[in-house]
Amino acid sequence: MADIIVMRVGATREQIDRVVQRLHELGLRAHLSEGVERAIIGVIGVGAPLLKVRDVVEMLPGVEDLVSITKPYKLASREFQSHNTIVQIGAVEIGGSELVVIAGPCSVESEEQTLATAHAVRAAGAKILRGGAFKPRTSPYSFRGLGVKGLQILARARAETGLPFVTEVMSPEDVGMVTEYADMLQIGARNMHNFNLLEEAGKSGKPVLLKRGMAATIEEWLLSAEYVMAQGNRQVVLCERGIRTFETQATRNTMDISAIPVAKRLTHLPVIADPSHGTGKWYLVQPLSLAAVAAGSDGLIIEVHPSPDQALSDGIQSLTFDNFRTLMERVRQLATVVPRPQPLAVS
Ligand code: PEP
Ligand code: MN
Repeated sequence: MADIIVMRVGATREQIDRVVQRLHELGLRAHLSEGVERAIIGVIGVGAPLLKVRDVVEMLPGVEDLVSITKPYKLASREFQSHNTIVQIGAVEIGGSELVVIAGPCSVESEEQTLATAHAVRAAGAKILRGGAFKPRTSPYSFRGLGVKGLQILARARAETGLPFVTEVMSPEDVGMVTEYADMLQIGARNMHNFNLLEEAGKSGKPVLLKRGMAATIEEWLLSAEYVMAQGNRQVVLCERGIRTFETQATRNTMDISAIPVAKRLTHLPVIADPSHGTGKWYLVQPLSLAAVAAGSDGLIIEVHPSPDQALSDGIQSLTFDNFRTLMERVRQLATVVPRPQPLAVS
């Protein structure tokens, strides 16, 4: 049973029959239970039509409420799969026993900048390189990335360091091209609701890093993961990167640490944290990284730049090589006392 329809007190026999008939028309079965005061109808069935039940049933006369007892996302839910999914990026596994750190510049600016950063983050213990070649910028006049040239630089950095890389893809038309180079596709916060892009990323067969939209509920975020998974691609990693609140100055976004254990409870997919975008301040990246690890994050994604003051994007939140090394030491210390994977709470 997936949903329960609660009829109004005094709903007529015709009204109840009409609800049951509409459910049958949707290919669902109804389990009617008539109490002293009111009738309750259990909806029995599987698959997509359940998503339509609310739309159809809520407007029928005599219906008081519809209560969902299963999640609107299916493939992504823990009800569907109880064990944790492990996502494979080259030789690296996210969601297993190791905490995985992804690091690199916000944007690929030059070969020199990207290679220097790749070597530095690898030496400090990062397992995956990040770097944007196609950049979603709030202003059209800001640096918007090197495009294909950026992908080629990332591929060179991979060849030199052995680190697989994740990079953002912004439009469905670019998925094929980015897939030729990247080991993992990033869907950015601003594109979390771009359903055509999610489907193309699903068809690409590449692992997908799905950022949470800055105004997205956790359910919406998981439904976006469902779009990718519905295309047959189960390799999705969720990334909490801060949400928009009334705070605009002290922090760029409000890092929702609670989203990490909440998502881990609702889904079997790995969940990582991005304290760079989550806070927008370089000096907050380390404390929020530690908080995310303590909360059960499967990994971190951190922006690092050879000279943050000269960065073409997100310099304020980027770590120097030295600060990244220190962060990695602290994270490693903490990781020794936080069990991985973190056992789920049972009541
Ligand atoms: C990024 O990773 O550089 C980025 C733009 O992230 P987000 O989509 O989370 O803002
Ligand atoms: Mn950035």
